[in-house]
Amino acid sequence: MNIILFGPPGAGKGTQAEKIVKSFNLHKVSTGELLRLEVEKKTDLGNKIKSILSSGQFVSDEIINNLIKKIVSDKIFFNRLIFDGYPRNLSQAKNLELLLKQNNQKISCVLNLNVKKEIVLKRILGRETCTKCKLIFNKYFNPATYDNHKCNAKFLEKRSDDNEEAIINRFNDYLKKTLPILNFYKELNLLQKINGMNEIDEIFKEICTILTSLET
Ligand code: AMP
Repeated sequence: MNIILFGPPGAGKGTQAEKIVKSFNLHKVSTGELLRLEVEKKTDLGNKIKSILSSGQFVSDEIINNLIKKIVSDKIFFNRLIFDGYPRNLSQAKNLELLLKQNNQKISCVLNLNVKKEIVLKRILGRETCTKCKLIFNKYFNPATYDNHKCNAKFLEKRSDDNEEAIINRFNDYLKKTLPILNFYKELNLLQKINGMNEIDEIFKEICTILTSLET
């Protein structure tokens, strides 16, 4: 099955994606992570997009679609993709449909994580990512401890776009450009609504019930 995790920035898509990957043997495709990796590796693409990422604006569809094309056409990941942070506008959603069709695949469901704006802001402002193991924590809701994080605390970092100005840009872009995609997937009968304000494990349980029913 191929899944899309949908929701505003800070909805918990990355956290849930990690858990789903482990339990359902899927391959996570986070366009944000792929882009941050390019910046980290200081590639030509990374140098070009560094300031765009820090400001919270969208990277061009052309760059994103090229990244996605490589993954969707890779036989290793056939029919076991989970998209996090993609598609982010209608043109990307249509491109994904086309790419999947060309590769004899389709989307099995779109998990829509609903979260209020105030909660999203607090989640993003408290977010810390380990640069070594890539696990995501939150100072307020899910702090890194000796039990859940084995790397040194010095590896915990805030993302450059997790500041208030960039967050407001990202949230407004979500409302204007990303939210309209929901209608596209509603018409395809693929939407599943999830309460993203519950506890992490409770949300995951709800997701597991949906995904298990798709497998059978
Ligand atoms: P994320 O990790 O999903 O929050 O993405 C971080 C940043 O990467 C976004 O604020 C955008 O600048 C860029 N980005 C990630 N995915 C996309 C996408 N599908 N389309 C355009 N820009 C993206």
